[in-house]
Amino acid sequence: MDADALTADVAEKYQKFVNPTALALLKIAGFDKVEWEGSGATLRDAHGTEYIDCLGGYGTFSLGHANPRVVAAVTEQMQRLPLSSKTFLNKPLADLAALLAAITPGNLQYSFICNSGAEALEGAIKFARMTTGRTKIISAEGSYHGKTLGALSASGRDTYKTPFAPLLPGFVHVPFGDSEALAVAVDGETAAILLEPIQGENGIRIPPDGYLKAARELADKHGALLILDEVQTGLCRTGKLFACDWEGVAPDIMTLAKSLGGGVMPIGAIVGTQRVWDAVFRENPYLHTSTFGGNEAACVAGLTALTIMQEDNLAEQSRVKGEKLLAGLKGIQEKHPALIMEVRGRGLMIGVEFSDSDIQKLAIGSLVENGVVVAYTLNNTKIMRVQPPLVITDEQIEKVIAAFDQALTDTADVLSLLD
Ligand SMILES: *Cc1c(COP(=O)(O)O)cnc(C)c1O
Repeated sequence: MDADALTADVAEKYQKFVNPTALALLKIAGFDKVEWEGSGATLRDAHGTEYIDCLGGYGTFSLGHANPRVVAAVTEQMQRLPLSSKTFLNKPLADLAALLAAITPGNLQYSFICNSGAEALEGAIKFARMTTGRTKIISAEGSYHGKTLGALSASGRDTYKTPFAPLLPGFVHVPFGDSEALAVAVDGETAAILLEPIQGENGIRIPPDGYLKAARELADKHGALLILDEVQTGLCRTGKLFACDWEGVAPDIMTLAKSLGGGVMPIGAIVGTQRVWDAVFRENPYLHTSTFGGNEAACVAGLTALTIMQEDNLAEQSRVKGEKLLAGLKGIQEKHPALIMEVRGRGLMIGVEFSDSDIQKLAIGSLVENGVVVAYTLNNTKIMRVQPPLVITDEQIEKVIAAFDQALTDTADVLSLLD
């Protein structure tokens, strides 16, 4: 089948069998191509056209696409024993949990390995209830914790929640980054404060310095747990291994997913303290389980990904490359102050805030034409996320900046025609 026929066939099946409205949206953005192969920060469609991937799977592809070391390790495991029989002990699971205990901050010690970010949040919510015997959970407006019912209850955008009401009771939402609002909300009934260290889907929002510290102190004062959702910020994305390392704050429960799979396998993790594990698992070790969770292939992907991140010092790479990309994008903002309101970020977690979501749509379309894939953040459609693989090269960063420059010029031209 040639590329045109293949693309038409896939589009037709999306229309008939997957999600026709999603297909229509992808068409508008110029995203109705079939992704075919990838390596590093490069993605190729079925026509062989190359793109620099600055969406990066919302943080999944920190090690790039099809990272050869992760693929090789997973392939070896796949050929021997891909999925756990759950009968005997699982070596990759044990090794991954031990490594997570060694690299996570504070007293985080035990890990439950699951299959996705939302699943990690479900577990974290259950564990917080069990540990404290309380049900109130404080989370932030605009937050994103996933779309299963529990994670959705914690999340902060009504569009995704209202159609599925009633959700779980006990969730209280406070403005993000406001420690005084947090202080008012937390009390002796609070099981946990649940926060993203930097809000990803709400448009790469960085809280004021001291916010996580304040949350930690409030949780301690009231006997509540601090849950940090590092599903997107974790594992070198912000220029440190964990985003909470910027403030030297350690949670009682940390959730991970996205980049933990090395861009090769789906995986999630709930990492918790001795106190949490005693409360949840001491009496019944099977109180929380998952058939596929902790499978050998996913754990090998996680182990290999963490090893590469440490050996190649990806946190430092993210910090240095992030500064370069941020500076380039700020330069473009200066040229188009009416179109771009702000460029902000930490490491390679960067958000570009447009004056209007339609202007952003034009810019996204133009960027794709110029060989760069980007997207908006789910909870705020005015903000473009720029989250390339951390292995992006300097030359690719320069190309991205040039493509942005061109895309904004094109967008300004289109807008002037409309005036
Ligand atoms: C993506 C994300 C989730 C949900 O992860 P899924 O694997 O999509 O279920 C949860 N929390 C944060 C912060 C995320 O960015």
